[in-house]
Order: sequence, then structure tokens, then C-alpha cells
Amino acid sequence: MYDVIIVGAGPAGLTSAIYAVRAMKKVLVLEKLNYGGQIINTLNIENYPASPNVSGFDFATKLYNQAKDLGAIVKFENVIQIKNGNIKSVITSKNTYEAKSIILATGSQNRKLGLENEDNFSSKGVSYCATCDGAFYKGKDVAVVGGGNTALEDALYLADIAKNVYLIHRRDEFRGDAATFNNLKSKDNVKFIYNSNVTKLIGDDKLEAIEITNNDGNKENILVSGLFVAVGRIPLNDSFNELIKLDSAGYIKACEDCHTNIPGIFVAGDIRSKDVRQLVTAVSDGAVAATSAIKFINEK
Ligand code: NAP
Repeated sequence: MYDVIIVGAGPAGLTSAIYAVRAMKKVLVLEKLNYGGQIINTLNIENYPASPNVSGFDFATKLYNQAKDLGAIVKFENVIQIKNGNIKSVITSKNTYEAKSIILATGSQNRKLGLENEDNFSSKGVSYCATCDGAFYKGKDVAVVGGGNTALEDALYLADIAKNVYLIHRRDEFRGDAATFNNLKSKDNVKFIYNSNVTKLIGDDKLEAIEITNNDGNKENILVSGLFVAVGRIPLNDSFNELIKLDSAGYIKACEDCHTNIPGIFVAGDIRSKDVRQLVTAVSDGAVAATSAIKFINEK
């Protein structure tokens, strides 16, 4: 029996683990893939207070080791279902674990464009991570689709690697921040294509071109070797979407104490319904959720 089971080993989950083990609680972290979550794809974190220029991988690795060294148990198992009760059950593909409280820190995953042959072209020209795959496109023409911070940062990163970067957005203004947009405008090899969608992926074995359709219905093919899809994230709520109250977009609603509508189940990080999804808000949630879980256990 654990005091706290944390689902997800990203910055929010691992920070929860640090706070809970330091309060002498028995903590299990369950993660389906790799530790680190989304931040692992960020080459250089510039906006984390007092720690400029640290890579996402280094940040995540330090955090992971810190949680383990302090006593958190981490297991790489996929959580399939969560059951409520006085004692809560967390069912993975291998085992069932019991806990007095749970912290959900499952985050979100890449949204796809939903194009017909998108999966076939994955790793053959279509990528969802510029810092992971950008180096394969040295001196080539690539496109980025999306209008948020990820798209802007991906385009900026690729501008130093690729020959030309086409940044395609479905509206005429970006959702991402002005500072990154201004940096991007100073890059001669970045071409902005507004009011347009990627409507077709063209190529035989690998991507050779994309069809874009503007909002007036006009179509154009652009020759590119790579397309980086940066059109947002989907909340990872499969294991608990019938148990926990979600907002209309599928994120978990919670008050400032990160307590969900189920007593003893807490939420932290990107899976929480909120306006600002940043590394700093993820770790902040982690601290709050763990503190609330500790209080819940101690008051029982
Ligand atoms: P996002 O902010 O949700 O932006 C998604 C973008 O994709 C939007 O511009 C949206 O267009 C567009 N889009 C959505 N579906 C589309 C579709 N089917 N076809 C074409 N375009 C589509 O996602 P994000 O950029 O991944 O960022 C997620 C969160 O992480 C944000 O809060 C962001 O600020 C944060 N973030 C922070 C940093 C950092 O701090 N360094 C870095 C990356 C991300 P519309 O604008 O028209 O809706």
C-alpha cells in the first residue's frame, strides 16, 4: 500500500514525488514511456527562473534522479484504469497497486493533422518534434504547421538547420508569444504562409511535397522534405475520463489546491484545466498537489 501513487513522470509528477517523499510518504510513480514528459523535446529552456540555457533532457534527468535519490519508486508501466474507494486502485497492464491518494500528472500528447496518409509518412518526412528530428533536414526545405509557441520555436530552431522554413498557419496572427515571433521575423530563410491549411501529403516512400489550401480555397504545392506538425496537444485522460470531472476540452477541473472532484485524487501539470501551460506552472502544480495529498492523508 502506497501513500501516494503518481501517474506520470513529467515535471509535474516528479515534483509531486519530491514533495511527497520529503514528507516521509511512501510514493510510487507510474510512467508508461520515458521520464521527462514534453519538456524533454525542448533543446534550450530559456524561461525557467534562475536557470537559463538548460536543456529539457538535462532538466528532466536531474529531476528524475532527484526524485529517485530521495526515495520515490518509479515503475515504467502503462496505467489502464483508476478505481475510487476509501483505498484507491491503480491498474496497469502488469499489476494492480493500492494507495491512500493519487496524483494524476499524465500531461498531453501531440495532436495530428488527421490527413489520410499522415501515419505512413511519420518518420518519413512528417515529424512532431523539431528538436528530435530537425538535424535530419540539414540544408533541405521544410515546413512547420501551427501558430502557437511550439510552432514558432520549431521554426526558429529549424531556421538554423534547414535551407528554407515555411511556417504555415490557418489564421493571420499567431497565438505564440511576440518575442519569439520577432526573432523569427529576423530570419531571412523563414517564409510565413497565413490563412492556409496543409491539406495533402505528397510523396511515394517519403514526403516530397505538401499541398496547402488557403481560406479562399486556392491550392498550391510546396516542395519540402520535412513537415513539422505543431498544432497543439491532446489531454491524456483515457484511464480516468469516466471517473474524474473534465472540462469541455478533456482537461481536469480542480481548485487552487489541485484536488479533483474525487476526494483523495489530485491533479498536476498540463492535464489540469488552466490558461498557462508552462514548465514553471507544471512544477508549481506538482508541489501544490503533493502538499494537498499529504494533508488529505494526514487528516484521514
Ligand atoms: P497551442 O498553443 O494550443 O497552439 C496550437 C496551434 O495549432 C494554434 O495556433 C492552432 O490554431 C493550431 N491548430 C490547431 N489545430 C490545427 C489544425 N487541425 N490544423 C492547423 N492548425 C491547427 O499549442 P502549442 O504551441 O503546442 O503550445 C501548447 C502550450 O505549451 C501553450 O500554452 C504554449 O504557450 C506552451 N509552450 C510554451 C513554450 C515555452 O514556454 N517555451 C514552448 C512551447 C509551448 P489557432 O491559433 O487558429 O487556434
